[in-house]
This record gives sequence, structure tokens and C-alpha cells, in this order.
Amino acid sequence: MGIEVAVIGAGPVGMAAAAFLHQAGVAVRVFEANPERAWQSRATTIHPRTLELFDSLPDEHGSLAARLVAAGNPVPATHFAALPNRLSYAGLDTSFPFVLLLPQPETERLLAEHLAEQGVVVEPGWKLADLTQDEQGVTIVSETGDTRRAGYVVGADGAHSATRHALGLAFPGTPASTMGFLADVRLERPPAQPHNWDYERGSYSALPLPGGIYRIFGHEPGDTGLTPEEAARRQAQIPDEAELRATLKRLADDDFGITEVLWASRAGDTTRHVEQYRTGRVFLAGDAAHVHLPAGGQGLNVGVQDAANLAWKLAAEVRGRAPRRIIDGPQSYDAERRPIAARLAANTLAQAALMVTFTPGGKALRDLMSDLIGRDGDTADELRGWLSGLDISYAEDGSLVGRRVPNLPLADGGTLHRALRPDRFTLVAFGTATVPEFDEVVRSTRDWHGLAAVLVRPDGYAAEVWTTDENLTTDWTEH
Ligand SMILES: Cc1cc2nc3c(=O)[nH]c(=O)nc-3n(C[C@H](O)[C@H](O)[C@H](O)COP(=O)(O)OP(=O)(O)OC[C@H]3O[C@@H](n4cnc5c(N)ncnc54)[C@H](O)[C@@H]3O)c2cc1C
Repeated sequence: MGIEVAVIGAGPVGMAAAAFLHQAGVAVRVFEANPERAWQSRATTIHPRTLELFDSLPDEHGSLAARLVAAGNPVPATHFAALPNRLSYAGLDTSFPFVLLLPQPETERLLAEHLAEQGVVVEPGWKLADLTQDEQGVTIVSETGDTRRAGYVVGADGAHSATRHALGLAFPGTPASTMGFLADVRLERPPAQPHNWDYERGSYSALPLPGGIYRIFGHEPGDTGLTPEEAARRQAQIPDEAELRATLKRLADDDFGITEVLWASRAGDTTRHVEQYRTGRVFLAGDAAHVHLPAGGQGLNVGVQDAANLAWKLAAEVRGRAPRRIIDGPQSYDAERRPIAARLAANTLAQAALMVTFTPGGKALRDLMSDLIGRDGDTADELRGWLSGLDISYAEDGSLVGRRVPNLPLADGGTLHRALRPDRFTLVAFGTATVPEFDEVVRSTRDWHGLAAVLVRPDGYAAEVWTTDENLTTDWTEH
């Protein structure tokens, strides 16, 4: 069989897309520019919804989620805008009520291992330079002139996406106006508080990663209000150990005894969102489609959720059984995921404002927000639902259709999320409701919104729901 889907880029999003597509029975191949795996620490946090999605991928460890959890450091709470009051995940209705701290190179290594075990080929050292498409497929061309043919292409080649450039798509948004420092370090005496903020001196945070390493990050007042040129100049200037020591001394009168700098970088608030996610047979996902300030650890997570949303729809299209509504209708990849990235952009810009407004007013705003979070009421619930990914929904007008279905316990002793597969819908029956023949029928031992049954999409969202007095018929099987 030829290549049904070519994925460009073996970052976390490209590898996740390949894993979901392979599980759906699609002949997928990944093309990666780097000849060797790059060691860029970057993302440290994996949120519950991402783990739930990975739980539907069977793996030698039980599931891909189990593989990641075994390697990471689960912590019960996360932060919003580095505010002192944290958001607890402890009571969330999920099998993963925690933030998993796992450096991105580890996440990528585990994804690569998973793909290798599943027999998915990743071609290293293959850099996309151009592509052309016709009614039957897409021709991709490498930097060295190598040409391949695929039915469809998923461009997951990061912020500077060659796929996006080849499609000639605009990437509108706002340039960086702030540029902070960040680094993974070993410390002799870590700060007493993870997050520290002072409107005259600036901010610094230190979060523990596995292996006795700390992720430090922060801003000084002079790191803000930059022109795009100043921001670009500063981004190119990676801080070394001496500079990190000097910065921390200015911020805290202490360099916390840095003994080793494993990785250092700078992070800005560039915020851009591609104008369309699909152009003919070519899709964009992850950083190729949206970039923003890395605040609250969301980029990798939202990108993996893009991949899960796209994979089952694309698999159905490859097999010729996709209804129009998931190709270009209201449930298409573009229609469902673009609003999510727009919210992500707004949310990270708001966090940037809270993090770098070094004025007495900025302090008052931080105190107010932190106080609201500390009350553990609606504000905390709203932010928790968003950051964890559990409240992300494709529903309209409060409908259950489009809502995430929780990990319901099943009569056979299993759980719903592990029973989901990227190539089929699952009909969950509640109580003793009689249900018709369907590809995959499971029975829940727990009630959900008093329903008789729910048809669950491969990515775990409700496609259709039935109350006890309704006939169970669905047109999701008729294409
Ligand atoms: C400092 C920092 C901290 C962050 N912290 C977090 C966090 O805590 N949590 C979180 O969720 N996110 C975080 N992020 C964001 C996260 O790192 C990105 O959102 C994530 O890496 C996006 O994954 P991706 O697969 O879309 O793109 P990338 O990781 O950029 O991967 C793209 C891949 O495509 C390859 N490629 C590029 N061009 C080509 C080409 N022409 N042909 C073939 N292959 C190509 C690249 O080599 C790369 O392997 C952080 C980012 C930064 C910079």
C-alpha cells in the first residue's frame, strides 16, 4: 500500500497524529527534517485531557498514557499566570487528576518508542521544501529534491512550518513585545515559593521537574514593551550561566546556588493563528497552526488535541466513509479546532498581561485574580476546566452533543476511554436500556446525565445522546 497520509514533522504533535492515524488503520509515514532527535527541553507539562486521549492508544505499557505516567512526575496542582494561589486538579472527574511533569524530550522519546513498536516509519533527515496537490493526492518534495506521493498531508512542522509556507497561507497575529528568560537548572537551595513577583524588580519562578532539576523562568521590567526588532534581538541572545546568576541576583538577591545549566532559552508572547486549517488535502496541526506565549503549559497539549480531533475524521475520509459534516461542515476539524486555538491565544495573552504588567495596578490585578482563584469557586473552575482540557467542548447552546464523555466504568470491568478506538464510534448504554446493533456497544455501570445511551466519537466526545423515551436511531452509520 502507498502512503495514505504523510505527516511532516516528528515533534509531539506529528507523532501523536501518526499514532492515532495508525491505530485507525491508516498507512501513515512521518518525515522529519532533523537527522537526529533534537534536545529542546521546552514543554514540561501534560494535562489530564491529553493523557485521556493517549489512553485510547494501546501500548506495551497498557496505553500510551500509562507509558508517559510511568516516566513523569504527577503533581496535584497547576498555575495560571504564575499566580501564588494554584489550581488543584485533585477532585477532577478523570483517571488522571494531576499535571504530569515530563520534559518534552522525554515525551518525544516515549512517543517515538510507541511508534516504533507499532511499526510506524519515521524518516529522519527528510526536510519538506515544497508540495503540490491534485484531485488524487499530494506530492511532497524534500530539500534535496526527493519526491513522494501521499493521499493526504498533515503539516505538524512547528512554528516556522514549511507546509504552511508551501500553501501560501497567512499567519496573522501580533509580534512579541516581551521576552523573558527560562532555563532548566540544578539548584543548591531552591526558592521557598515557586512563584515570586515584584512590580519594581520583576518575577521569577522555579518548578521542580523529575531528576532534581528545576525549570526557572521570569521577566524583568526591562523585558517588556519591546519593539518586534528588540524582541527578536533578545530572543537570539540565549542566557548563559553567568547571565542567569546575575538576573536571579537582581530579582532575588540570590542565585539559589545554580550548579548546572542543562538548557536555557527565551520565551516571548508572539501570538499567531493560521487563517485555515485545511487546504484541499493538506491539514495543519499544533504550532504550525497556532503559536502563543508558553504560559500554563498549553501548546503541546492543544496540539495533541488537534491531532486527536483530526485523525479519526481523516481516517474516515481516507476510507471514503466520512459524512460531509466532518469534511467541511460544522463538525469538521477546522470548524471545531479553530475556536479552541482562538481561546488559547486570548488566554495566553491575558496571562502575559498578568505576568509582565510591572506597575502597582498590575500588582493589584494579580492579587485580585489570585484571590478569586484561592476561593475555589467559579473562577477556579473555569480556569481549571480550560487548562486541564477537560471542559473543552464542541457543544452548542449547552447541548450534551459535543461534550467530553467522562471515563465511565464499564460492565466488563474496563473503562470507556480505553475502549475507544480511532476507527469507530462506541455506543454506551446506561442501566438496562435496550440498544440496537452497533459496531461497538458497551454498557456503563455509572449514570451520565440520566441518559439511556450516548454515541461516543473516537476522540471521546458525545456524537449523539438518547433519553429513555426516545428511539435509538443514528445517521452516523449512514454516509
Ligand atoms: C520555552 C517553551 C516552553 C514551553 N512549555 C510548554 C509546556 O509546558 N506545555 C506545553 O503544552 N507546551 C509548551 N510549549 C510549547 C510546545 O513546546 C510546543 O507547542 C510544541 O513543541 C508543539 O509541538 P509541534 O509538534 O506542533 O511542533 P514542534 O515541537 O516544533 O515540532 C515540529 C517538528 O517538525 C520538524 N520540522 C520542521 N520543519 C520541517 C520540515 N520542513 N520538514 C520536516 N520536518 C520539519 C522539526 O524538526 C520538529 O521535529 C513550550 C514552548 C517553549 C518554546
